[in-house]
Amino acid sequence: MRKIYINAGHLAYSPGGVYKGRREHSDVLRFSSLLERELKKEGISAVLYEGPLGEGFNENDIILSFHRDSNMKKEESHGAYVTLPADADASVQYDAFRLMSGLCSDGGFKYRGVHTYTKKCPHKSICKTGTPFTFVFTLGFMDNYRDNDILDNKSPSLIRELAGCLKEIEKEAENENNS
Ligand SMILES: [Zn+2]
Repeated sequence: MRKIYINAGHLAYSPGGVYKGRREHSDVLRFSSLLERELKKEGISAVLYEGPLGEGFNENDIILSFHRDSNMKKEESHGAYVTLPADADASVQYDAFRLMSGLCSDGGFKYRGVHTYTKKCPHKSICKTGTPFTFVFTLGFMDNYRDNDILDNKSPSLIRELAGCLKEIEKEAENENNS
């Protein structure tokens, strides 16, 4: 049986990015908890865990991992993107695109694309989870006021969109298994 895992990147005592009192881990944990609750409301069970991605998942499991980026005084970038394992096939890329369309729906993040793992990606363990359905989402830039405003104020509606996309993806997978 396929499981959905929600991963809030980093830990309370090792929060990842920090910017003006904002902590990456707190940002993504808040978002992840809301997503877990929304999925349960939709009848989809998901397991929330914090910290590194980990290894040894079943090959059909879905991992939705959440992080944030920062500009570090370079250009003023904003928006969300998702990174997939290097061997993600076209159908996983398509699912990733659909999930991104939830995050980038009305009032949401600017769309910054679906990427596969390259050496530039800081999440090296993405290729070791054991499942090609590993989606590492970057919920905007911590030093961009627009992205922070979206995360702080629009998360509930974006999460509803995201949960809706996930429900459709799950339904299709079920139909495929039954046919
Ligand atoms: Zn991170």
